Amino acid sequence: MTRPRRPAPARAGRQRRRHPSEPGAGEFTPSVVRQGRSLPEVTKSLRPLSDWIDQDEWPHVPCPACGDGRVIAEVLTTISSGVSKRLEDHEGWDPDWSKGVFHGLLRCSSPKCAEPVVVVGEYRIDVAAQSVESWRGGYVSLLRLRYAHPALVLLDCPVRTPEAVRSAVAAASLLVWADPGAAANRLRLATEELLTAQDVPPSAIVQGNNKRLHAHQRLERLSARNSVAAEALMAVKWIGNEGSHTDALTVGDVLDGAEMLGSALRALYDTSDEEVRRLVRETNNAKGVLKGR
Ligand SMILES: [Zn+2]
Repeated sequence: MTRPRRPAPARAGRQRRRHPSEPGAGEFTPSVVRQGRSLPEVTKSLRPLSDWIDQDEWPHVPCPACGDGRVIAEVLTTISSGVSKRLEDHEGWDPDWSKGVFHGLLRCSSPKCAEPVVVVGEYRIDVAAQSVESWRGGYVSLLRLRYAHPALVLLDCPVRTPEAVRSAVAAASLLVWADPGAAANRLRLATEELLTAQDVPPSAIVQGNNKRLHAHQRLERLSARNSVAAEALMAVKWIGNEGSHTDALTVGDVLDGAEMLGSALRALYDTSDEEVRRLVRETNNAKGVLKGR
């Protein structure tokens, strides 16, 4: 008879060693987070991946682990579908009949990080544009990203961004390439979490009854305090609503939503300008460099 194994007793005075990639470990904290600001360029840099791209022109996008480096394509392998393979024996076959899947490995350019990112998606051959036809035999290999792991970050949130909002953005980042509608929904959830974090109540007493407030009504309440943030979040909400009702939403639409959410987060949580203004005031008051800063 085997006895159930007991967990090892915790030893006094010893702490579990923290893996360097865990939050708070420092070494791998993205620079944008360390600096306490969010960069709209992070979302913009993903734009080329929202459509079919030339295999030889895979974009260099920010590393999801360190934020300092960019992940660069190390290997991109294309595989023809079974139908495409069989069609190669057809007498009328042309290279642009080929399509299938691809898989690949991206790697962070920062030697300290070197994070790998695995990507998969679709592949097809198309007739090259006139400008590149002369040196590529008239055809190009095109790729369409459908999944990346670890997820490419849609949006770098300012340091003071609430955890529930960060989680919703992380979920959207994971889903965006495979299911843009589901990703837009997660961004809508991020706006609702943001409203809760901003102490905008989810319900109100109307004619003696406790009524649930719609996101729209809550955003109107936030608008009284911060109209810039409320306006941006309203647009994210509209995009999220479309994600629930139609499958016509594109990756580009979700990236639009991420940029708008980023704008709202900066309006609410990015204090870098405010800190500079305070430094200006203090320096002027001191009529010189601040001692002991
Ligand atoms: Zn990196």
